Amino acid sequence: MQRRPRLILSGRALASNYQRLSDLSTGSECGASIKSDAYGLGIDFVAPILWESDCRTFFVAYLHEGVALRAILPEAIIYVFHGISDSELEYFKEYSLRPVVNTMDDLQICMSQHLQPAVHLDTGMHRLGLGEASWDLLEGFFPDLNASLLMSHLVCADDPEHPLNTIQLERFSSLVSRFSESVEKCSLANTAGVLMSKSYHFDLVRPGIGLYGGSPDPLKMQGFEPVASWQAPVLQVQTIASGESIGYGASYVVDDEVTLLTVAAGYADGYIRSLGNRAQVSLDGFLLPVVGRVSMDLVTIDATLLAQALRCPVVGDWVELMGHSVTVDDLAIASNTISYELLTGLGARLERVIT
Ligand SMILES: *Cc1c(COP(=O)(O)O)cnc(C)c1O
Repeated sequence: MQRRPRLILSGRALASNYQRLSDLSTGSECGASIKSDAYGLGIDFVAPILWESDCRTFFVAYLHEGVALRAILPEAIIYVFHGISDSELEYFKEYSLRPVVNTMDDLQICMSQHLQPAVHLDTGMHRLGLGEASWDLLEGFFPDLNASLLMSHLVCADDPEHPLNTIQLERFSSLVSRFSESVEKCSLANTAGVLMSKSYHFDLVRPGIGLYGGSPDPLKMQGFEPVASWQAPVLQVQTIASGESIGYGASYVVDDEVTLLTVAAGYADGYIRSLGNRAQVSLDGFLLPVVGRVSMDLVTIDATLLAQALRCPVVGDWVELMGHSVTVDDLAIASNTISYELLTGLGARLERVIT
């Protein structure tokens, strides 16, 4: 076996997170957002497990992601968030993919094509979706659109007290009363929407991050099970004298002799630079600080605590960078980002080991 960093992926944890989200949304169907290669964990791993957990409806961002998913799940309902263009129409048909209609252009392409599209109505995000100005027009299009889903997206669901939540809920509910006769299902909630309350669930929920073990807001951890454990081997162990510096830019200066580990992970693997001098890793149950800057392929760890208390680490030891002891939300807090950015940034060169 090669000495290279790996992601240990737990199918059991993924299935358990799906089950929890599905239980929370009883009475509604629980779909899954698996865009960006299932938030970096890999659709080859994620899609079959969700299917076996009885997930039937999937959301991706791009046509090519839908094509790749179709090869894995021949029977699934697959929606493509980013709409449709004329040149893509034949592929949507060939692979039985359902576009999400965001604009009047999308809508024109889908007319009389039997694509069973979703219609995305903008209730406040002002990013994608048909805004209020086009809602009156819509009525006339529905008969020949053969739409299957009415959807909108929440702006502030990670902050349940935010007034926009109820405003969006009211707007969406009134659109549902107006248009639901023309579609099979209505959908509003992402992970945070599922966690908020039953009134946000409608017919279908479409969580992403919770499935993969992250929380919508890292400061309010929701206790989803970590799905990926990121482990990297120690390449060198050394003792550094007081007064010496570590890594590029000499950003960390040692004030007492330290046991230093050089570990095979860097920003090219998704261990982002802002984790330098901020994050911790786990070894033998000890949390050890990252010292110095993160470089492209390497990171340095102060293992003095472990060396003094238990044993001196050796080359070939495996350090956990992210997983159970240091969660993706812990790393998100340390680097001032969110779990989504860390997971989707996981490098292609990490070996993915499915357990
Ligand atoms: C990504 C996405 C989701 C899933 O959101 P999570 O916060 O990961 O649960 C749902 N709906 C839309 C439109 C999305 O873009």
